Amino acid sequence: MSKRLSVILPCYNEEPVIRQSIDRLSGKLASLIDAGTIDADSMIIAIDDGSTDNTWNAIAGIASYNRFVVGIKLTHNVGQQNALIAGLETAIQKDADITITIDADLQDDINAIDKMLELHSQGCEIVYGVRNDRSSDSWFKRVTARMFYNFMKATQAKIIPNHSDYRLMSRRAVELLLAYEERNLFLRGIVPLIGLKSERVYYSRTPRHAGYTKYPLGKMLSFAIEGITSFSVRPIRAIFTVGLAFMFIALSILVYVIVAIIQGRNIPGWASIMLSIWFIGSLILIALGIIGEYVSKIYLESKHRPRYFIDRTTDTDKH
Ligand code: UDP
Ligand code: MG
Repeated sequence: MSKRLSVILPCYNEEPVIRQSIDRLSGKLASLIDAGTIDADSMIIAIDDGSTDNTWNAIAGIASYNRFVVGIKLTHNVGQQNALIAGLETAIQKDADITITIDADLQDDINAIDKMLELHSQGCEIVYGVRNDRSSDSWFKRVTARMFYNFMKATQAKIIPNHSDYRLMSRRAVELLLAYEERNLFLRGIVPLIGLKSERVYYSRTPRHAGYTKYPLGKMLSFAIEGITSFSVRPIRAIFTVGLAFMFIALSILVYVIVAIIQGRNIPGWASIMLSIWFIGSLILIALGIIGEYVSKIYLESKHRPRYFIDRTTDTDKH
C-alpha cells in the first residue's frame, strides 16, 4: 500500500513566490501519485507564519481549487522552526505516513524528493537534504556557514553540515521529535538526537527567484547562537578554564611584585596595570554574556509557553 505524504511549507511574507512554489510541488505530487509511489491523499501543508503581506489570501485562494493544499494561518510570527512544528503536528493529525519539510522559496531542489522517498522505502526514517554546492550563496554566507559548522563540531553537537530544514521524516520520527518539549528550537540539532536510521541526499541549491531572504545578518547570527547554546555547555566550561589560567597568571605577577618590593626595586608598570584591567574586564563581560545566554534560555523554557496558535485553516474536508 502506498504511503501518504505531507509536504510542509513554512511561509513568512512569501507572496511573490508562493503560487509558483505550490504549483511546482503540486506537479511533483501528481507525478508521484501517478507512479504509485505515494498515496492519492497526499498533501501540501502551507503554514502562514504571521505574514504581513498577502501570503494568507494567496494560500487560501490556491486551497480553494487545488485539492492538495491545506492552509494553516498562525496568529503571529513565531519563526520558521516553530512554524515547522505547527506543520508537523498538523501532518500527524491528518494521518501522514511521511513528512517532508522544505522552504517555501523552493531554493532546495524538489527533485531530491524522489531519492528521499526511495531511501525511505528502504527503511530510512530520516533523510537529510544536504547541499553539495553553495555557489548560489554569497561569499560571506559561505564563510560564516563554514565557521558555524566547525564551531558546532567542536562543541560536539551532532549537526549535519550544509543541511538546512529540507528533510524527510517518517511518522514515527515526527512523533518522537514532538516529544522534545523545549521552546528554544533548533531542529537541525534535535533531529539527529532521535537516533533513527538516517541517510543523506545531495542536491545543489538555486538562488531565490523572487522575494527576499528572511534571514539577514542579525537573524542569522542569533540563529547560530541559538544553535550553539541549545546543544552545548562547553562555552560555560571554557570560561571556567580560562578563568583558572588567568588566576594563575595573576598569582605569578603577585609573587613577582612581592619579590621586587622586598629587593627594593621601583615598579613602574602603570601601562601594564591599565592593560590588565581592561583585558580582564572584557573577559569578565564576555563570560557574563555567555552565562546570560544560558540563563535567558532557562528563563524562556521555564515559562512553558505554547509554541504557536492557529488562527484559521482552509476548509479541510478534502483530507
Ligand atoms: N520563515 C518563516 N518564519 C520566519 C522566517 C522565515 O516561516 O520568521 C520561512 C520562509 O518563509 C522560508 C524559510 O523559512 O520558507 C526560509 O527562509 P529564507 O528562504 O528567507 O531563508 P534563506 O534561504 O535566505 O536562508
Ligand atoms: Mg531561502
